[in-house]
Amino acid sequence: MNAQDCPFEKIIPSELLRDAEYFMAHAFNQAIEAWKIDEVPIGAVIAHEGRIIASAHNRSRAANDPTAHAEILAISQAAHALGDWRLNECTLYVTKEPCPMCSGALVISRIKEVFYGLPDEKMGCLGGALDLGALPRSNHHFTSTGGILAGPNHAILQAFFEKKRQYNATDKTNDSAAI
Ligand SMILES: [Zn+2]
Repeated sequence: MNAQDCPFEKIIPSELLRDAEYFMAHAFNQAIEAWKIDEVPIGAVIAHEGRIIASAHNRSRAANDPTAHAEILAISQAAHALGDWRLNECTLYVTKEPCPMCSGALVISRIKEVFYGLPDEKMGCLGGALDLGALPRSNHHFTSTGGILAGPNHAILQAFFEKKRQYNATDKTNDSAAI
């Protein structure tokens, strides 16, 4: 299997019910796009008045930029699309609970609400490790809901890192054979 061969199929959600799972399916499909370019498969979309105005996936490797997380890229796209840095009428959907950097950017963007897939109790900052959406002295609070399409969102990350481990093990075997 090539690094870019993603074993996951895109989810085609029904257009009739635009609920959290509908938008999360689009975020999941972005995660597949990330896998295809050998990025950690995390995807995000931002909805405004029921319409997707931004969609992005992790690009840290491709951009050689540690800030190129799906959420940061989606926030910039959405602000650009609206011509306003305040996203107080926008909802973000992301396949994994946002890290400290992205959670901070969501506070600063004044996002209305966040839905995420896989919770992350180690680095997640919307309720996992801590909740930046509920800073006690901040003027801007927002709610976050985890566990949306948690199965596929967990499976794709698990499979990606498993594949990485296998590649690394194969590389080491080849190295020692060459010596
Ligand atoms: Zn992040």
